[in-house]
Amino acid sequence: MSLYVVLMGVQGAGKGLQAKLIEARFGIPQVSTGDLFRAMRTRNDELARKVQAIMASGRLVDDDTTNAIVVDRLAQPDAKKGVIFDGYPRNQIQAAFLERHLQEKGARVNAVLLLELDLYVAFKRAFGRVSSDEGKSYNYYYNDAGVDFNWVASDDSAFPPRLDARLSASDENLRRRPDDASADAIIKRIDTFLETTQPLITYFEAQGKLRKINADQSIEAVWADIQRALETN
Ligand code: AMP
Repeated sequence: MSLYVVLMGVQGAGKGLQAKLIEARFGIPQVSTGDLFRAMRTRNDELARKVQAIMASGRLVDDDTTNAIVVDRLAQPDAKKGVIFDGYPRNQIQAAFLERHLQEKGARVNAVLLLELDLYVAFKRAFGRVSSDEGKSYNYYYNDAGVDFNWVASDDSAFPPRLDARLSASDENLRRRPDDASADAIIKRIDTFLETTQPLITYFEAQGKLRKINADQSIEAVWADIQRALETN
């Protein structure tokens, strides 16, 4: 039996983190199209440069490029028993493509989990987040214990100022995703989510596949709700 799960939710709803928990519990890998695109950063071909420019502006990569990168990922041996999609599909064209592709393999989308979050909270979760080299996450607004945060004005007084974050104990410089550092880009991503993903929510709801999860709870509580939703799929 294969298990294909689609994780949906606005930027900052905790999709990446919950995907890791599903991955560990069900033995299927997380496939994040955002991560696949970010991994192209080290490449310097035309496609990689195009993708970087689109991501930096907060817009969506075109559907053909996105679908192709997903098909490629699903063909890898670790994805044979299913995957958790994080950030894909982002619109109906991608959803229809995915359903067709899975059907050809004799599989289907088993469940769609929608992590629901207030949009102002979503903005602060993305704008305030930084991470350490070992992948631990902190947040200026919600999780600042052990971190020294400073807003540093840039030379040209561009707004917002740069967020400098260091671990108090080791002085390790914490990293911020470039697409989280721009308020404009975050708002654009939230807008895009609302515009393009809402029809997708309606689409999956009509198929009876949508499970709504309250994402404004502790990580453990969200995880408990997700497990319940997947058991009843
Ligand atoms: P994410 O990490 O999911 O927020 O994705 C970061 C960026 O990668 C997005 O703002 C888009 O530019 C691009 N991207 C990720 N997934 C998709 C997708 N399914 N379709 C189009 N663009 C995507």
